[in-house]
Amino acid sequence: MPLHVRTPTCYSLALSRASGRKVWLKLESLQPTGSFKLRGIGLACQHHARHGAKRFVSSSGGNAGIAAAYAGRELGIPVTVVVPETTPARARRRISDMDAEILVHGASWQEANEHTLAMLGDGDAFIHPFDDPVVWSGHSTIIDEVVEDGVRPDLVVLSVGGGGLLSGVVKGLQRHELTTPVLAMGTTGASCLAQSVARKERIVLPAIDSIATSLGARQVAEHAFALLSKHRIGCAVVSDLQAVDACLRFLDDHRILVEPACGASIAAIYEQVAELADFQNILVIVCGGALASVEQLTAWRRSLPSTNAS
Ligand SMILES: *Cc1c(COP(=O)(O)O)cnc(C)c1O
Repeated sequence: MPLHVRTPTCYSLALSRASGRKVWLKLESLQPTGSFKLRGIGLACQHHARHGAKRFVSSSGGNAGIAAAYAGRELGIPVTVVVPETTPARARRRISDMDAEILVHGASWQEANEHTLAMLGDGDAFIHPFDDPVVWSGHSTIIDEVVEDGVRPDLVVLSVGGGGLLSGVVKGLQRHELTTPVLAMGTTGASCLAQSVARKERIVLPAIDSIATSLGARQVAEHAFALLSKHRIGCAVVSDLQAVDACLRFLDDHRILVEPACGASIAAIYEQVAELADFQNILVIVCGGALASVEQLTAWRRSLPSTNAS
């Protein structure tokens, strides 16, 4: 039995009207942890549990850490999540509410992750937030469900950070022998894939400069980068403001609250980015995210400069 739930693939009248196209939503925001991460992280935790893991150790203060905490609780295995000092109180509480231990270390994910790797002991299973084939297998079940639901998009839109979701979705498409192109969305300040594509090499961002912290990988995983030569994958970025606006508009249109990381994908539709031009039937992976609040989105809406559009 998987730890994630089957989510609906539903037609969006609001996004279809807004874009003059047919738009379907895969509602990963309905996962018990609020994001798609539970598919892959849940499967990885089950895998490690079968191989005798005594503890799961995650280095993510975001949705991957929440998914690991949830999986550990379901499987009866203790979880430690190492978060950087920047992880907000709300995220820490989400994790500790599920009885996971929280350790705070370092100024960024990079340092928290190095600390995590150094502290691993016998019986500990390290749960990587995006760079693990088992995680991709878990994420790939999104496409199994879309196919089962009889939806056949001509474009899949998703958000990309480290590339775990992208790798999983492409894996799912390939399993069903679908060559459907994928549009991978980022924000201007969290765009390691888009910049790697532009420079034709897997670059390392000097820093993340975006409120879409769930997209905040400084370098995309090698596997995700290699997929660019095997599958038709486009990239685009929106500004933080466009991502936040998309979250607020989506909240009114669908009564669903998501993070700006997910707002980047939704903004592709509302803003009708140029990369949609050739496509009429679009599936948006509503990847979700548990770390947004209406209050925070509204505060960002007020404080973000309106000139940082891409
Ligand atoms: C993790 C995450 C992403 C990015 O996924 P990657 O696998 O790192 O590319 C996007 N949106 C949300 C809400 C996430 O939690």
